[in-house]
Amino acid sequence: MRTALTLACLAAVLGASADAAAWCRMTSSRRAPTVTQPCVFPDPTTDPPEQYLEWRRPCTGIALSVSSPSADLTDEEVLGVLSRSIATWNAVTCDGTPIGYDLILMEERTTCDGPLYRDGGGNVNSVEFIYDWAEHMYDANAFAVTTVWHRRSTGEILDADMDLNERRGPYGICPPEGCDTRIVDLENVVTHEMGHYLGLAHSQERDATMYASAVAGEVLKRDLAADDIEGMCTIYPPGRPEGECDYTPRGGLDLDCQTGCCTVAPGRPGGPIWPLALLLVIPLRALASRRRS
Ligand SMILES: [Zn+2]
Repeated sequence: MRTALTLACLAAVLGASADAAAWCRMTSSRRAPTVTQPCVFPDPTTDPPEQYLEWRRPCTGIALSVSSPSADLTDEEVLGVLSRSIATWNAVTCDGTPIGYDLILMEERTTCDGPLYRDGGGNVNSVEFIYDWAEHMYDANAFAVTTVWHRRSTGEILDADMDLNERRGPYGICPPEGCDTRIVDLENVVTHEMGHYLGLAHSQERDATMYASAVAGEVLKRDLAADDIEGMCTIYPPGRPEGECDYTPRGGLDLDCQTGCCTVAPGRPGGPIWPLALLLVIPLRALASRRRS
């Protein structure tokens, strides 16, 4: 609820500075955005100094879970949506040159039913539909939550997992003009969450894919705005990150989230690896009108 209230305040601020760049980056900070400071900037005086979050390798892959497919769409339809969202981000160019980062949809499927990172073990960047949303202690108003596992001291993203709230559906594939408010366009939600996967935080630009709230039936976030592209070109300009393209997750590929050692539970950060979860919520105004109806 605190998140939704903050977003409503941000929307009020936007009118005064519509032309300014509005995109923000994720950081290792635990401070939340505020009305006066919608972007959280790293504080270099903390121990360790706060960092911007970013992948330090030029290629990563993401896999859909087998354990929790959406009841509203076929597997093929969900995989098609994921492919299109990935292609949208991969297509970003900076002054005509492609960004220095490539994301693929893996052919393999995972057994993950929530975010997981094994420090010292195998991993997979996963996408899963969650039925027992409340058990994960997520915001009930959220369509989705992406957990970005990162090394706190360097800001390097190690793993990222996307949870989709099955209870906020039914999900569908809307026509280009959008759906009525009974259907949630899956590509609209997934494309926003992919931005978090890549290290972008919320933008105050209402037309941006990374704007923090959405309504059912909306398709605005399927396409990137100039604001989103500017953020990507800042984080991953052509030629960066350097290194060989290798889609293998850190610690090797392990598609099985049900077994294995070294589990780090989200929400209980211990040691140098921290999870950071950002979500896409229904705006406060939409919730209020829904309650009246
Ligand atoms: Zn979000």
